[in-house]
Amino acid sequence: MTPDEFRKHAHELVEWMAHYLENVENYPVKSQSKPGEILKKLPERPPLKAQPFEDLVKDLDEIIMPGITHWQSPNFFAYFPANSSPPSILAEMIISTIGAQCMNWETSPAAAELEEKMMVWLRDMIGLPGYFEGVIQDSASAGTLAAILTAREKVTGFRINETGAASAGNLRVYCSEQAHSSVEKGVKISGIGKSNLVKIPVRKDFSMDPVLLEKAIEKDIESGYLPCCVIATIGTTGTTAVDPLKAIGSVCAKNKIWLHVDAAMAGTALILPEFRWMIEGKEHVDSFLFNPHKWMFTNFDCTAFFIKDANLLIKTFEILPEYLKTRTRGKVNDYRDWGIPLGRRFRALKLWSVIRSFGMEGLQDRIRQHIRFAAELKDMILQEKDFEVLAPVVINVVCFRYAPEGTDEMTRNSLNEILNHRLNDSGKIYLSHTVLDGKYTLRMVTGQTNVTLEHVKKAWELIKGTARALRD
Ligand SMILES: *Cc1c(COP(=O)(O)O)cnc(C)c1O
Repeated sequence: MTPDEFRKHAHELVEWMAHYLENVENYPVKSQSKPGEILKKLPERPPLKAQPFEDLVKDLDEIIMPGITHWQSPNFFAYFPANSSPPSILAEMIISTIGAQCMNWETSPAAAELEEKMMVWLRDMIGLPGYFEGVIQDSASAGTLAAILTAREKVTGFRINETGAASAGNLRVYCSEQAHSSVEKGVKISGIGKSNLVKIPVRKDFSMDPVLLEKAIEKDIESGYLPCCVIATIGTTGTTAVDPLKAIGSVCAKNKIWLHVDAAMAGTALILPEFRWMIEGKEHVDSFLFNPHKWMFTNFDCTAFFIKDANLLIKTFEILPEYLKTRTRGKVNDYRDWGIPLGRRFRALKLWSVIRSFGMEGLQDRIRQHIRFAAELKDMILQEKDFEVLAPVVINVVCFRYAPEGTDEMTRNSLNEILNHRLNDSGKIYLSHTVLDGKYTLRMVTGQTNVTLEHVKKAWELIKGTARALRD
């Protein structure tokens, strides 16, 4: 492709992009594609000869788009938001154009220094103490793994990095029953072993019971285990429950246990002063993460990871082969030593673009709106006798179910499962589910970048109508 051809296609593609964003509501939110349908339309073998880019764009519309689930639709209420926004998309264009590998300071000083500053901005925006240093990780899963590995090395005097996981046998990690599956994955990968992940029961509001945490730790110490790390969740994936950080933190402090906080989605709410109660007890926190790539209008991937003592992280991950030796070593941040991969994208640019384009107030207004929509949806649900709300509405997630009078639990579970599929198959909205206390629960997340109260009201009308039609 010549520079002139590139320019022409790029201009056309920007039109395609703007058109998509304007029309994203017109697609079925959840792809209606059947397994293997797209695969069948793709050629068996790669082309021998160069093909015009126009052909690719045509196939994009005809083959690919029908197989896309539209996360950027304001009628997307499933899982969690994976928001983009125009400033983030524009930044991604710049990032891929520059195409820099940002593994060391020297491989692009601006990328390293912008990342350092963006992490300071974010740290201050969410109210973490000034001694935290930050780094962008690719995902909350990778960030939590990095925290577990660092805690493991700290508690064993960096022994397992040297001699292998055999000596990790007696380490223990703690999280609540409602913690994200990435914790279990991290514990598996770290060599600590899934059977050494202790899942602490939750209280009525689905947050970790700190009394039971303390008991579990005491019992483990008596039995000869070495507690390594506690992972508290701020905003669980199921219901956005907030684990009590202060109480958990004092248990950790008393027993000298690493405290990692997973605030993947809900961390964004900390930019609002009225949500800072969620991190009361922050003085006990050793590491903390949240995902601007979820609810802060920044395209995947962008996890903000903060750590009290960055030296421990670096000591856990550092490598220094001859070909990576630089003259600036030790004077600057070489972020390859702050996580698992060597290669790194220039992700700080997305944050810079998003934060500058929205401004702090713009971000706060949008987040407050999303939280208000969830509260209003809860009120709408509470007005209907045949529906019930199944968990406290803390931030932007409403857990509820259809529970018509005179039906037993089994019927209710199957009614709600059918309801969920029927709504999603309609293509008009997309919801996902969880199970709470044995009840099949619908989850509606009001966090998509462009969702309005109108979208929420329309979705609620559709849910009510579809549910009641199930019994006609
Ligand atoms: C979404 C989520 C994760 C996983 O996030 P990734 O960035 O996709 O790894 C972890 N923890 C919580 C609480 C989440 O909501």
